[in-house]
Amino acid sequence: MRTSWLPPSRAVLLGLSLLAGLLVRAGLAQELSIFDAHIHYSEPAWGPYPPEAVLRILDRAGVRRALVSSTPDDGTLRLHAQAPRRIVPVLRPYRSRDDMSGWTQDPAVLAYVESRLRLGVYRGIGEFHLSAGQAAAVVPRGLVALAARHRLFLHVHADDVAVEELIRLRPEVRVLWAHAGMSSPPETVGRLLDRYPTLQVELALRFDVASGGTLDPAWRALFLRYPERFLVGTDTWINAQWERLPEILDGFRVWLRQLPPEVAEQIAYRNAERLAAGP
Ligand SMILES: [Zn+2]
Repeated sequence: MRTSWLPPSRAVLLGLSLLAGLLVRAGLAQELSIFDAHIHYSEPAWGPYPPEAVLRILDRAGVRRALVSSTPDDGTLRLHAQAPRRIVPVLRPYRSRDDMSGWTQDPAVLAYVESRLRLGVYRGIGEFHLSAGQAAAVVPRGLVALAARHRLFLHVHADDVAVEELIRLRPEVRVLWAHAGMSSPPETVGRLLDRYPTLQVELALRFDVASGGTLDPAWRALFLRYPERFLVGTDTWINAQWERLPEILDGFRVWLRQLPPEVAEQIAYRNAERLAAGP
C-alpha cells in the first residue's frame, strides 16, 4: 500500500522539477545566443551610450559578441578596449560622415585605412557603401588589396550588381554582404552564393525574411541550402536602434526557431564566429 502512495512533499517536488524543466527549455529557446554582425558605435551614440551602457544593452539582448565599426573609428576602439574578446573591430574607411560621399576616389582615405590597420586589431574593413560602377575606383581596389594582404573580410553595403563587381576584383577575399543587398530577393542572393564561395550574407533590416513573424518559404529554402553562409545583425545606424536592439534580436529569434536548431545556431552565431576567426 505504501508503494503506491506518494508523500505530498515528493509529489510537490516532482511537479516543481517538471515545471523547472519546462521553464529551462523555454528560457534556452528565448535566449538563443546571438553574434550581432552589424553594430556601429558612431559619434552620436558616445554621449547617451557610453561603453558600459552599450555592454549592458548587449547583455540584455543576449549578444555574445559583435562585429563593430564606427564613424569615426575611435568609437570602435573605445568599445573594444572595454570588452576586447566580445567586441570584434571592423575598420570603417570614413574618417567623418563627409567621407561617405566621394570616398571611392579619395586616395587620402586609402592612406588612412593603411595606417590604421597597423594597429593590428581589425578582423575586417567596412561597412562601406558602394554603388554599381564604383568597384574599380582607386580606393575600393586598394581596400581589396589591403584585405587580401591582411587576411581581412570586407563588409559592404551594395546592391547585387555592385557586390558582384567588388567580389570579381579578387574572388578569394571574403565579402560580408550587408542587408543582403537591402532589397535583393532570395533568388538573386542564392545565385550569388552559388557563384562565389567566399560570399557571406548578413540580414540586418531584412524584414521580408519573416514578415509577420513567419519565415518566408523562399528564404527558408535558401537558409537550408546554405546554412553556413548567413549572419544576423541589428545595424545601430541611429541611436533609436540601441533602444530597440533587444526587441530586434528577439524578432530574429522568432524566425530562427522555425529552422532546425543546428541551422538556427549557425545563423545566430556560429557563422559569425568563423568569420571573425579569419580564413
Ligand atoms: Zn550599417
